[in-house]
Amino acid sequence: MTEIYEKLEKIVTKKFISNSLIVRHAYSRVVDPLLQGIPDIVIRPKDAKEISEILKVANEENIPVVPRGGGDDEFGGSKPIGDGGIVLDMKRMNNVINLDEDNMVVTVEAGISWAKLNEFLCHFDLYTGCMGPGSGMTASVGGGISHQSVGGGGCAKYGSCTNQLVSLEVVLPTGDIIETGSQANKFSQTPFNRFGNGPDLAGLFCGDNGILGVKTKISLQVFPRPPYAAYKTFVLPRKDREVSSQIMLDVRRKGIDVYDLMYIMGIIVLLSSEFGLMPMWEHLKKNRGIIFYTVEANSEAELEEKVKQLDEIIVNNNKCDPIGPEISDGNIAKWHYAEQGHWQFYHNLWGVVPALEPLSCECFVPANMYPKYLNEIDQWDMAHSEDLNKFTKITGQRPVSGSGPIFLIDGNNVELTCGFTSFPSYYNGEIHEEFDEINLRLWKSYMEMVTKWGAQWYMMGQMASQIMVEVEAYLPDYYKTLKAIKKTLDPKYILSRGKFNFWED
Ligand SMILES: Cc1cc2nc3c(=O)[nH]c(=O)nc-3n(C[C@H](O)[C@H](O)[C@H](O)COP(=O)(O)OP(=O)(O)OC[C@H]3O[C@@H](n4cnc5c(N)ncnc54)[C@H](O)[C@@H]3O)c2cc1C
Repeated sequence: MTEIYEKLEKIVTKKFISNSLIVRHAYSRVVDPLLQGIPDIVIRPKDAKEISEILKVANEENIPVVPRGGGDDEFGGSKPIGDGGIVLDMKRMNNVINLDEDNMVVTVEAGISWAKLNEFLCHFDLYTGCMGPGSGMTASVGGGISHQSVGGGGCAKYGSCTNQLVSLEVVLPTGDIIETGSQANKFSQTPFNRFGNGPDLAGLFCGDNGILGVKTKISLQVFPRPPYAAYKTFVLPRKDREVSSQIMLDVRRKGIDVYDLMYIMGIIVLLSSEFGLMPMWEHLKKNRGIIFYTVEANSEAELEEKVKQLDEIIVNNNKCDPIGPEISDGNIAKWHYAEQGHWQFYHNLWGVVPALEPLSCECFVPANMYPKYLNEIDQWDMAHSEDLNKFTKITGQRPVSGSGPIFLIDGNNVELTCGFTSFPSYYNGEIHEEFDEINLRLWKSYMEMVTKWGAQWYMMGQMASQIMVEVEAYLPDYYKTLKAIKKTLDPKYILSRGKFNFWED
């Protein structure tokens, strides 16, 4: 390993590589505290050329490499699967390369965060439309494209961040460097269109979870932020699951270009207010769900008309009670849009009681199906009571299962943020090893249930990509084709080895 370390050190210089125990451990986990893989080396390249050289060394030496942006993955995606290998930290590559104001296309290095990019764009009255994921303060644009991320605001209007993708520069696992879309033509002056010059190769890398190449340069469409916006929050009547789903379908059927539309379950409102995480909901402690919308417009008249149509659906047709206009009234919609709450929201929720171990199962499902799935989550909880109660005996509290926010994304689909919050094995000064075993078993069982709904995973990491294979959810010819693509681009399975159960042959 010393010889390999020296070869890599020559590429990035001494300052940007480490094999110290503390650094290796710092990069051994992502958000879930269950899965760990300790790398041998952590390296921080400055550009595509250095990454290409690193990958060539990794191929020569047959060492797996996992790319890592913000490290906000929830399913073990940006740390090694098993110990060993190299973590390629992309966060040094965090600059805006160019803003083409005429054509409204921005080009960035892949490690830049959504917050830094949008902070830059707001000086030009522009934004990215889909503001990336809810973790956008730290999560990178490269990580977002690798996950098809959605959720950091604007996703009912703009859909996933991959919708706004124009072109990519990608270092392939063998070290070759390609550009996609308009940039596949060496005579192109500037990135301007994703489609054309042959098949949509950029699409191959969208949602690849880092298995097919390292994204180094990303061009995105950007949009003018409209001057007018309205944001309102409502308490749902009983049967809040069904009613909220109906509202989403009605809004789509009416063709109103709502910017965000989100349902939050009663239990989340209750717990968030009870534990002071969302103090503005203090007066809503009645275990009733809420729904909120944000809508944008270019004139007051346009805004008024959209608000009228939305209120007709939400208040008149579906009998919801509006909450006052201020954040202190509980109007989370205002905080979410006007104060960038969309990037803070989940950080609060992730810590919801018992505040310890979020084992999430986020997925996409059709908007008309989620009430049924929420009922199945309740049944899952009851069916696993014996296991869940084992925690209660020691901690005095039962893990909480259910769903966080459910919000409209592209088309008539929603992102369903479900899962459970549990306790880690280190609790109250003692180690309870059985906790890890139960948590992993329950998490897998939850993921299996979600997979068998036919839900779509977007962030797959170690867990979801392997579950899909283990429960034989992939159509055999799909999986065969995916494997063939992987093998063609990455003959030694260097990148993110083990995801989708792609191991060395
Ligand atoms: C509080 C919180 C809120 C969240 N909210 C959302 C949400 O609303 N919506 C959502 O979609 N997700 C959400 N997530 C999950 C996650 O943060 C996002 O999916 C995010 O886009 C990941 O970006 P990242 O830079 O942190 O990626 P990482 O975790 O670093 O990596 C994610 C995956 O992409 C690969 N990768 C990273 N960079 C590159 C690159 N340059 N080239 C190739 N592969 C790469 C990694 O190998 C890994 O497989 C949330 C997470 C947290 C902790």
